[in-house]
Amino acid sequence: MTESHPTGPQLTERETQLLAAVPDGLYVDGRWRPASDGATLTVTDPATGAELKRIASATVDDGVAALDAAAGTFDAWAGTPARERAEILRRAFDLLIERAQDAALLMTLEMGKPLDQSRTEVAYGAEFLRWFSEEAPRVTGRYGPSPEGTGRVIVTQHPVGPAFLITPWNFPLAMATRKIAPALAAGCTVVLKPASLTPLTTLFVAKIFEEAGLPAGVLNVVTTSNTGPVSERIIRDPRLRKLSFTGSTPVGRKLLEQAAGGVLRTSMELGGNAPFLVFDDADLDKAVEGALVAKFRNIGQACTAANRFLVHRSVADEFAERVTRRVAEFRMGRGTEDGVTIGPLIDAAAVAKSATLVADAVGRGATLRLGGTPAEGAGTFFPATVLTDVRPGSDLLREEIFGPVLAVVPFDDEDDAVRLANDTEYGLVSYVYTENLARGQRMIERLATGMMGLNVGVISNAAAPFGGWKASGLGREGGAEGIHEYLQTKYTLTPDPRL
Ligand code: NAP
Repeated sequence: MTESHPTGPQLTERETQLLAAVPDGLYVDGRWRPASDGATLTVTDPATGAELKRIASATVDDGVAALDAAAGTFDAWAGTPARERAEILRRAFDLLIERAQDAALLMTLEMGKPLDQSRTEVAYGAEFLRWFSEEAPRVTGRYGPSPEGTGRVIVTQHPVGPAFLITPWNFPLAMATRKIAPALAAGCTVVLKPASLTPLTTLFVAKIFEEAGLPAGVLNVVTTSNTGPVSERIIRDPRLRKLSFTGSTPVGRKLLEQAAGGVLRTSMELGGNAPFLVFDDADLDKAVEGALVAKFRNIGQACTAANRFLVHRSVADEFAERVTRRVAEFRMGRGTEDGVTIGPLIDAAAVAKSATLVADAVGRGATLRLGGTPAEGAGTFFPATVLTDVRPGSDLLREEIFGPVLAVVPFDDEDDAVRLANDTEYGLVSYVYTENLARGQRMIERLATGMMGLNVGVISNAAAPFGGWKASGLGREGGAEGIHEYLQTKYTLTPDPRL
């Protein structure tokens, strides 16, 4: 793997202009304003450690003000015709596509992923705006006779109420649009709290909604480094009716406890520990391509990242050989540079975690084929790493790696593979490579995950219900299901009008 480290914190003129154009305030009730105590938080470039921008850091009272706005505009927004809500979403989609290059560059600056991957995320994230602009006018109910013939059953759908959305740093654009779009489409108003490491992309998106004509108070954005207290105050406010969170399972558990007080509707998109199964009847060319993207996309920092490569013993060596050859050609560097495949990890803690997990696996007998040692110099870089013969009990089989470490574990037969794959508290996604149709269908039945890639290494799609089983979460985002997370059902009984 080749390395090219950025030499200093210099930004190009375009980068400087782009950063200057991003709002630096909280977006509350249609106004951009500083935190009430003037506090700020600093956003840095993980490739260099350099400061990119200082923005407002909300106080608890600022969070309440954002909820005041969302609660105050709820009735009007819920009563706005679905077609009007849809057209605002559609305008936001058009504006985001128009500015896709800027959105992608901004994301790479604050998060680190290679620019082509940021462009892919903009396209994916924008698609939620278009998809839910199309879903908004399709919310329906039903009307029918009660079985005994004396009444009429009427079923209607209603927006659940003001919603609080919390998003992570790893997909700063798509995780925001995947929540904002169905909420607005359903008629909910929102307060959004982006991750404090990557808030700029979200502020960029909020600006787009402002330009798209979204009424003041319908979308509010609070950036803060005082995360716990600001969030808890909002979650425990009786006016809030919905909490949608994407992030780690431990934080998700804590938020579920807080949400229990108000019996909030909750959606939880939490951590993963995806198994990637390669059977002896797999097309190895396809499996290697799928493995590279399932593991190294987003520098391994995806909830859907393949965490454990379970490979039939008869093809494990060849699979590892081929993967290692391809990974050796990767280029590590700042995500804005041409040809870079491995950008920086988000912070020093992420580098330390990858290094510790690799050391543990090697200590227990795994073979290190490539990488394994943090890069020296500016930025938080960890090289693409390949481990084979990873032994049972290794920490990285149990924990979400969230880094560019590919770990191969051999298995002997299908039952063995299924047992290993399901041996985790998580259940987000699994990947299966087999050319045997019946085996592929058996895996759909047997693998305990909410999503599965059958001979593909990336499964995200705005038209599909994204979400996990077990400790990977509750609820679904995207697809026909996504809008229902923000709707509640009412059943009305009325007498048969003829009686
Ligand atoms: P995280 O530490 O749980 O943070 C996620 C969000 O929660 C951030 O906005 C964070 O704010 C906020 N947060 C942290 N502590 C909080 C608290 N006590 N109260 C309220 N909010 C709090 O997760 P992360 O490291 O950003 O993201 C990585 C995790 O997200 C991984 O586990 C990954 O698998 C998961 N993920 C899941 C999906 C999915 O769809 N299933 C998608 C992407 C990521 P601050 O930034 O201010 O701390």
